[in-house]
Amino acid sequence: MDNCIFCKIARGEVPSKKVYEDADVFAFHDIHPAAPVHFMLVPKLHVGSLADVEDKHRGLLGNMMLLIPRLAKEQGCTDGFRTVINTGHVGGQEVYHLHVHIIGGGERLPAMIPRPR
Ligand code: AMP
Ligand code: ZN
Repeated sequence: MDNCIFCKIARGEVPSKKVYEDADVFAFHDIHPAAPVHFMLVPKLHVGSLADVEDKHRGLLGNMMLLIPRLAKEQGCTDGFRTVINTGHVGGQEVYHLHVHIIGGGERLPAMIPRPR
């Protein structure tokens, strides 16, 4: 995708603070971090959102899930982390290239879904 910012980042055409790269995925720090550690893992393949994944993406998605705890630990999330995939308008997605936010490294994050006590 020519005009996709995350495709450009994954191709090295737009600068980013790289966390990790292999043949299939790219990880980089969020420019507006929500916590001391906040980076995103994206597939190099342009997939618009989680709502667009298909069976052919099974292996890619599985590899991403396996990679996340390793990268989170390497980045300093020694006591847990949060993963977020905003999807579509209702999900608050701003960049329409599938990405997983990995957030942590500080205090316990506030609950995203209010729980009755
Ligand atoms: P989302 O709402 O899940 O689509 O979030 C997109 C995220 O991308 C936001 O947290 C932005 O801060 C982040 N972002 C946008 N442009 C860049 C960029 N050029 N480099 C790093 N992070 C970015
Ligand atoms: Zn893209």
